[in-house]
Amino acid sequence: MISASHITYYHLCHRKLWLHHRGMRQEDNSAAVGEGKLIGKQSYAHRASRWRELNLGFLKIDHFDPREKLVREVKKSPKLEHAHVAQVQYYLYLLEKAGIDGVQGILEYPKQRRSRTVTLTDEIRQDIQGWEAEIERIVKQDHCPALVKKAYCQNCAYRDFCFV
Ligand code: SF4
Repeated sequence: MISASHITYYHLCHRKLWLHHRGMRQEDNSAAVGEGKLIGKQSYAHRASRWRELNLGFLKIDHFDPREKLVREVKKSPKLEHAHVAQVQYYLYLLEKAGIDGVQGILEYPKQRRSRTVTLTDEIRQDIQGWEAEIERIVKQDHCPALVKKAYCQNCAYRDFCFV
């Protein structure tokens, strides 16, 4: 089963995607992930009543506004914005597949006082099917994809695994 984490990691690092899929979960050890979650909880606390957690079993979304049909994702920094956008697009895609149509996404960066709207188009739906096929191919590989050093590595939860 492909999750939103698979989609995010596919856009960040195929090695990370493979390790995550094989059950090597390091995210809880990551200060960056912990801080991101805290920002999500603390930001816009005055608007908290608007948002509900949506848990469909195969999909859990922290902030869903059923009246406005809006999914919100809060991030610490826009440095990895392309992966954040892909994550929200995947939420919208899965919701649509579950029969919940017309949902829009909003990606918020409270520290930068910035936000952007995320929507689905036919082109993105097609892209997502391509991402899913590639993810299936990568996670089925017998060997962990080779280490390709990138700026993101220094904040990655798998840093110790890759560089010790
Ligand atoms: S430390 Fe770098 S190479 Fe290793 S999993 Fe993370 S992003 Fe990928």
